[in-house]
Amino acid sequence: MKVAVVTGAAGFLGSHLVDKLLSQDYRVIGIDNLITGNLANLEHLKHEPRFDLIIQDVTEYINIPGTIDIIFHFASPASPIDYLELPIQTLKAGSIGTYRTLGMAKVKNCSFCLASTSECYGDPLVHPQSEDYWGNVNPIGPRGVYDEAKRFAEALTMAYHRVHKIPTYIVRIFNTFGPRMRLRDGRVVPAFISQALEGKPLTVFGNGSQTRSFCYVSDLIDGVLALAHSDYHEPINLGNPKEMTILEFAKTICRLAGVPEKIVFEPLPVDDPKQRRPDITRAIRYLGWKPMVDVEEGLKLTIQWFREKLKK
Ligand code: NAD
Ligand code: UDP
Repeated sequence: MKVAVVTGAAGFLGSHLVDKLLSQDYRVIGIDNLITGNLANLEHLKHEPRFDLIIQDVTEYINIPGTIDIIFHFASPASPIDYLELPIQTLKAGSIGTYRTLGMAKVKNCSFCLASTSECYGDPLVHPQSEDYWGNVNPIGPRGVYDEAKRFAEALTMAYHRVHKIPTYIVRIFNTFGPRMRLRDGRVVPAFISQALEGKPLTVFGNGSQTRSFCYVSDLIDGVLALAHSDYHEPINLGNPKEMTILEFAKTICRLAGVPEKIVFEPLPVDDPKQRRPDITRAIRYLGWKPMVDVEEGLKLTIQWFREKLKK
C-alpha cells in the first residue's frame, strides 16, 4: 500500500485530499497544528485504520518512521484575513515548512507536491495568467507575506528537483471553494454565502469590478492527483477559467440562495488583485485535466452545506 503524507490535513483542501487518497487505497499520515484548520474536517475518519493525524507544526523537525511515497505540502494560512493576522507563521509555513518537508522527501527518497497559488502572479499585468508569467507582487505589502513565501517555496522546490533529483510537483491553485471552508475565514465564498443565509447584506469590496475565477473543490483535487501521478515537474495552474466580477458573483449567490439582492460596498483591501483567470492550457495538455463541475452547480452544493452548518 502506498503511503502519502499530507500537511495541512485538517484544512479545507487538505481534508478533501486525504479523502481522495484514501479512496485510492493510500495509507495517509496527516500533519497539522490546527492554526486555521478544524478537526471536524477529519471527524468522519475517526475509525479509519489507514489514517493517522500528527498534531505538529511543519516548521519543526518532522520525524515519520517507515517508507513514504509522496508528501503533499498544503499547510499554510490561506485566506487573506488569516495571513494578515498570522504574517510570520505564513512566511514560516511557506519557507521553513517547505524546507522541512522537502528535507523529508530527500531522506525518504519520495515525491513531493507543493500547494502553490495564483497569488504568485500578484496583481497580474498579463491576462489570463499562464505559468510563464513571472508576476507582479508587492514584496513588502500586507499580502507579500503569503505571495513571497509561496514564491520562495516554488524556488526551493525547483532547487531540490534540480540538485537532489526529487520528483517534485508545483500546483498553482486558483480560488477554490466547497464544503469545509471555514464560515468566517473571510474568503469571498464563505463570506457571501453566510451573509446571504443570515439575511445580511453582502459585503462587496471596492466597486466589485475586480474579477476571480472559481473552481469547485472536487475538480481541484482530481487535478492535484493527476499531477502527482504525472511526469510533469514545472509549475502548473489548476483552476476554473470561468471568470466573473465580484459584483456579479454577489448577485449570483443571492439568486442561488433564494434571497433578495442586498449589497453594501466596503473599501478594497490593499493590493487586492484586479483580475484573475487561469490559463489552463498546460493542465489540459499534460494532465488531460479540465474542471467538470459547473460553478453554479458547485455553489448550490456549497450553499446547501453551509445551510446545514448554520442550523447546528
Ligand atoms: P486552510 O486554512 O483551510 O488549511 C490550511 C491548513 O494548514 C490548516 O489546517 C492549518 O491548521 C494548517 N497549517 C497552517 N500552518 C501550519 C503549520 N505551520 N504547521 C502545520 N499545519 C499548519 O486553507 P486551504 O484553503 O485548505 O489551503 C490549503 C493550501 O492550498 C494552502 O497551502 C494554500 O496556500 C493553498 N491554496 C489554497 C487556495 C484555495 O482557494 N483554497 C488557493 C491557492 C492556494
Ligand atoms: N471580497 C469581497 N467581499 C468579501 C470578501 C472578499 O468583495 O467579503 C473580494 C476580495 O476583495 C477579492 C475577492 O473578493 O477581490 C476574492 O477574495 P478572497 O479573499 O476570497 O480571495 P483572493 O482571491 O483575494 O485571495
